[in-house]
Amino acid sequence: LTIMTGELEVALRKDRTTSDYKKVLTSSKEETYCLINLVENLLFLAREDQGKHVIEFEKVDMTDLIGNVIANLQTESTDKKITLHVKADVEPTFVSGQPSILRRLFFNIIHNAILYTPAEGSIGVSLSGNKQYTEVIVKDTGICISAEDQKKIFNRFYRVDSSRSQTKGYGLGLAICKSIVKLHHGRITVHSALGQGSTFTVTLPMAKS
Ligand code: ADP
Repeated sequence: LTIMTGELEVALRKDRTTSDYKKVLTSSKEETYCLINLVENLLFLAREDQGKHVIEFEKVDMTDLIGNVIANLQTESTDKKITLHVKADVEPTFVSGQPSILRRLFFNIIHNAILYTPAEGSIGVSLSGNKQYTEVIVKDTGICISAEDQKKIFNRFYRVDSSRSQTKGYGLGLAICKSIVKLHHGRITVHSALGQGSTFTVTLPMAKS
Protein backbone atom coordinates (compact mmCIF):
# COMPACT_ATOMS: atom_id res chain seq x y z
CA LEU A 1 0.00 0.00 0.00
CA THR A 2 2.87 2.38 0.78
CA ILE A 3 4.49 1.76 -2.62
CA MET A 4 1.16 2.18 -4.34
CA THR A 5 0.14 5.42 -2.64
CA GLY A 6 3.64 6.86 -3.11
CA GLU A 7 3.56 6.19 -6.86
CA LEU A 8 -0.01 7.48 -7.20
CA GLU A 9 0.79 10.67 -5.31
CA VAL A 10 3.85 11.39 -7.48
CA ALA A 11 1.85 10.67 -10.66
CA LEU A 12 -0.91 13.07 -9.60
CA ARG A 13 1.46 15.97 -8.85
CA LYS A 14 1.36 17.21 -12.47
CA ASP A 15 -0.02 16.26 -15.91
CA ARG A 16 1.69 13.17 -17.37
CA THR A 17 1.90 11.41 -20.72
CA THR A 18 -0.38 8.44 -21.45
CA SER A 19 2.60 6.10 -21.21
CA ASP A 20 3.50 7.47 -17.74
CA TYR A 21 -0.08 6.88 -16.59
CA LYS A 22 0.05 3.35 -18.02
CA LYS A 23 3.26 2.62 -16.11
CA VAL A 24 1.76 3.75 -12.81
CA LEU A 25 -1.49 1.85 -13.40
CA THR A 26 0.42 -1.34 -14.28
CA SER A 27 2.51 -1.08 -11.15
CA SER A 28 -0.61 -0.41 -9.01
CA LYS A 29 -2.28 -3.45 -10.58
CA GLU A 30 0.69 -5.66 -9.60
CA GLU A 31 0.71 -4.32 -6.04
CA THR A 32 -3.07 -4.91 -5.86
CA TYR A 33 -2.58 -8.58 -6.85
CA CYS A 34 0.00 -8.95 -4.06
CA LEU A 35 -2.45 -7.40 -1.59
CA ILE A 36 -5.30 -9.68 -2.73
CA ASN A 37 -3.03 -12.68 -2.24
CA LEU A 38 -1.94 -11.50 1.20
CA VAL A 39 -5.52 -10.82 2.34
CA GLU A 40 -6.68 -14.21 1.03
CA ASN A 41 -3.80 -15.93 2.84
CA LEU A 42 -4.56 -14.13 6.11
CA LEU A 43 -8.28 -14.95 5.80
CA PHE A 44 -7.45 -18.61 5.15
CA LEU A 45 -5.32 -18.79 8.30
CA ALA A 46 -7.87 -16.83 10.39
CA ARG A 47 -10.60 -19.28 9.32
CA GLU A 48 -8.33 -22.17 10.22
CA ASP A 49 -7.73 -20.74 13.70
CA GLN A 50 -11.48 -20.50 14.22
CA GLY A 51 -12.00 -24.05 12.90
CA LYS A 52 -14.21 -22.50 10.20
CA HIS A 53 -12.96 -24.49 7.20
CA VAL A 54 -15.66 -26.77 5.95
CA ILE A 55 -14.35 -28.86 3.08
CA GLU A 56 -16.94 -29.93 0.56
CA PHE A 57 -15.32 -33.14 -0.61
CA GLU A 58 -15.81 -34.15 -4.23
CA LYS A 59 -14.04 -36.38 -6.71
CA VAL A 60 -11.23 -34.32 -8.26
CA ASP A 61 -9.33 -35.30 -11.41
CA MET A 62 -5.74 -34.49 -10.46
CA THR A 63 -4.36 -34.50 -14.01
CA ASP A 64 -6.88 -31.79 -14.91
CA LEU A 65 -6.22 -29.79 -11.77
CA ILE A 66 -2.43 -29.82 -12.12
CA GLY A 67 -2.77 -28.96 -15.84
CA ASN A 68 -4.92 -25.98 -14.90
CA VAL A 69 -2.43 -24.72 -12.29
CA ILE A 70 0.46 -25.07 -14.74
CA ALA A 71 -1.45 -23.19 -17.45
CA ASN A 72 -1.87 -20.31 -14.98
CA LEU A 73 1.87 -20.24 -14.26
CA GLN A 74 3.11 -20.76 -17.80
CA THR A 75 3.74 -17.08 -18.58
CA GLU A 76 5.74 -16.60 -15.40
CA SER A 77 7.96 -19.60 -16.09
CA THR A 78 8.39 -18.72 -19.77
CA ASP A 79 9.41 -15.16 -18.78
CA LYS A 80 12.19 -16.70 -16.65
CA LYS A 81 13.06 -19.23 -19.39
CA ILE A 82 12.28 -22.05 -16.97
CA THR A 83 11.19 -25.35 -18.50
CA LEU A 84 8.12 -26.75 -16.81
CA HIS A 85 7.38 -30.37 -17.65
CA VAL A 86 4.67 -32.67 -16.40
CA LYS A 87 4.74 -36.45 -16.22
CA ALA A 88 1.48 -38.16 -15.39
CA ASP A 89 0.36 -41.77 -15.22
CA VAL A 90 -1.73 -42.78 -18.22
CA GLU A 91 -4.64 -43.62 -15.93
CA PRO A 92 -6.34 -40.52 -14.47
CA THR A 93 -6.05 -40.24 -10.69
CA PHE A 94 -8.89 -38.91 -8.58
CA VAL A 95 -8.59 -37.58 -5.06
CA SER A 96 -11.28 -36.64 -2.63
CA GLY A 97 -11.12 -32.90 -2.01
CA GLN A 98 -12.20 -29.35 -2.73
CA PRO A 99 -10.86 -28.22 -6.13
CA SER A 100 -10.45 -24.50 -5.31
CA ILE A 101 -8.38 -25.25 -2.21
CA LEU A 102 -6.34 -27.98 -3.91
CA ARG A 103 -5.53 -25.55 -6.74
CA ARG A 104 -4.20 -23.11 -4.13
CA LEU A 105 -2.00 -25.86 -2.66
CA PHE A 106 -0.32 -26.77 -5.95
CA PHE A 107 -0.22 -23.15 -7.13
CA ASN A 108 1.80 -22.22 -4.02
CA ILE A 109 4.26 -25.10 -4.44
CA ILE A 110 4.82 -24.72 -8.19
CA HIS A 111 4.90 -20.91 -7.92
CA ASN A 112 7.61 -21.18 -5.24
CA ALA A 113 9.56 -23.55 -7.50
CA ILE A 114 9.50 -20.85 -10.21
CA LEU A 115 10.38 -18.07 -7.76
CA TYR A 116 13.31 -19.88 -6.16
CA THR A 117 14.77 -21.36 -9.36
CA PRO A 118 17.21 -19.17 -11.29
CA ALA A 119 16.50 -18.34 -14.94
CA GLU A 120 16.91 -21.23 -17.42
CA GLY A 121 16.38 -23.87 -14.74
CA SER A 122 13.80 -26.61 -14.92
CA ILE A 123 10.85 -27.85 -12.91
CA GLY A 124 9.36 -31.32 -13.15
CA VAL A 125 5.89 -32.16 -11.87
CA SER A 126 5.07 -35.84 -11.68
CA LEU A 127 1.78 -37.40 -10.82
CA SER A 128 1.26 -41.02 -9.89
CA GLY A 129 -1.20 -43.07 -7.94
CA ASN A 130 -1.99 -46.43 -6.47
CA LYS A 131 -5.25 -47.75 -5.07
CA GLN A 132 -4.98 -45.66 -1.91
CA TYR A 133 -2.99 -42.54 -2.63
CA THR A 134 -2.12 -39.99 -5.29
CA GLU A 135 1.38 -38.60 -5.13
CA VAL A 136 2.42 -35.31 -6.70
CA ILE A 137 6.14 -34.54 -6.79
CA VAL A 138 7.42 -31.06 -7.68
CA LYS A 139 11.17 -31.05 -8.29
CA ASP A 140 13.12 -27.92 -9.15
CA THR A 141 16.73 -27.02 -9.89
CA GLY A 142 16.74 -23.93 -7.67
CA ILE A 143 18.46 -22.85 -4.47
CA CYS A 144 18.60 -25.55 -1.83
CA ILE A 145 17.00 -25.42 1.62
CA SER A 146 19.24 -26.40 4.56
CA ALA A 147 18.20 -29.29 6.81
CA GLU A 148 17.59 -26.75 9.63
CA ASP A 149 15.31 -24.61 7.43
CA GLN A 150 13.44 -27.65 6.08
CA LYS A 151 12.10 -28.14 9.61
CA LYS A 152 10.79 -24.56 9.77
CA ILE A 153 9.55 -23.56 6.30
CA PHE A 154 6.03 -24.86 6.98
CA ASN A 155 5.72 -22.51 9.99
CA ARG A 156 3.74 -19.31 9.58
CA PHE A 157 5.81 -16.23 8.64
CA TYR A 158 9.02 -18.26 8.33
CA ARG A 159 11.25 -17.18 5.46
CA VAL A 160 14.74 -18.48 4.78
CA ASP A 161 17.32 -15.69 5.09
CA SER A 162 15.91 -13.18 2.62
CA SER A 163 19.39 -12.00 1.63
CA ARG A 164 19.72 -15.23 -0.40
CA SER A 165 16.94 -14.21 -2.72
CA GLN A 166 15.31 -10.99 -3.84
CA THR A 167 11.90 -12.65 -3.76
CA LYS A 168 9.16 -10.78 -1.92
CA GLY A 169 6.90 -12.77 0.36
CA TYR A 170 5.51 -13.15 3.84
CA GLY A 171 6.32 -16.77 4.62
CA LEU A 172 2.67 -17.85 4.58
CA GLY A 173 2.44 -19.96 1.39
CA LEU A 174 3.82 -23.21 2.78
CA ALA A 175 1.98 -22.84 6.12
CA ILE A 176 -1.21 -22.71 4.05
CA CYS A 177 -0.09 -25.73 2.00
CA LYS A 178 0.44 -27.67 5.21
CA SER A 179 -3.03 -26.87 6.51
CA ILE A 180 -4.69 -27.66 3.14
CA VAL A 181 -2.96 -31.05 3.11
CA LYS A 182 -4.07 -31.66 6.70
CA LEU A 183 -7.69 -30.76 5.82
CA HIS A 184 -7.46 -33.41 3.07
CA HIS A 185 -5.93 -36.05 5.37
CA GLY A 186 -2.72 -36.07 3.33
CA ARG A 187 0.98 -35.42 3.82
CA ILE A 188 3.54 -32.91 2.54
CA THR A 189 7.30 -33.35 2.76
CA VAL A 190 10.37 -31.55 1.44
CA HIS A 191 13.75 -32.85 0.42
CA SER A 192 16.62 -30.61 -0.59
CA ALA A 193 20.35 -31.07 -0.97
CA LEU A 194 23.17 -28.80 -2.14
CA GLY A 195 23.27 -28.56 -5.91
CA GLN A 196 20.11 -30.63 -6.31
CA GLY A 197 17.37 -28.04 -5.86
CA SER A 198 14.28 -28.87 -3.82
CA THR A 199 11.62 -31.54 -4.06
CA PHE A 200 8.16 -31.20 -2.51
CA THR A 201 6.02 -34.34 -2.29
CA VAL A 202 2.29 -34.24 -1.60
CA THR A 203 0.36 -37.43 -0.88
CA LEU A 204 -3.44 -37.32 -0.88
CA PRO A 205 -5.99 -40.09 -0.32
CA MET A 206 -7.69 -41.39 -3.47
CA ALA A 207 -11.39 -40.74 -4.01
CA LYS A 208 -13.57 -43.78 -3.47
CA SER A 209 -15.07 -44.89 -6.76
P1 ADP B 1 7.36 -17.05 0.87
O1 ADP B 1 7.73 -17.69 -0.42
O2 ADP B 1 6.25 -16.06 0.74
O3 ADP B 1 8.53 -16.52 1.62
P2 ADP B 1 6.57 -19.71 1.73
O4 ADP B 1 5.88 -20.14 2.98
O5 ADP B 1 5.92 -20.06 0.44
O6 ADP B 1 6.74 -18.14 1.86
O7 ADP B 1 8.03 -20.30 1.75
C1 ADP B 1 8.82 -20.19 2.93
C2 ADP B 1 10.30 -20.19 2.58
O8 ADP B 1 10.67 -21.47 2.07
C3 ADP B 1 10.65 -19.18 1.46
O9 ADP B 1 10.95 -17.93 2.00
C4 ADP B 1 11.85 -19.84 0.80
O10 ADP B 1 13.03 -19.42 1.43
C5 ADP B 1 11.66 -21.34 1.06
N1 ADP B 1 11.20 -22.06 -0.15
C6 ADP B 1 9.93 -22.40 -0.47
N2 ADP B 1 9.87 -23.08 -1.62
C7 ADP B 1 11.15 -23.18 -2.05
C8 ADP B 1 11.78 -23.78 -3.20
N3 ADP B 1 11.09 -24.44 -4.14
N4 ADP B 1 13.14 -23.69 -3.30
C9 ADP B 1 13.87 -23.07 -2.35
N5 ADP B 1 13.34 -22.46 -1.26
C10 ADP B 1 12.00 -22.52 -1.11
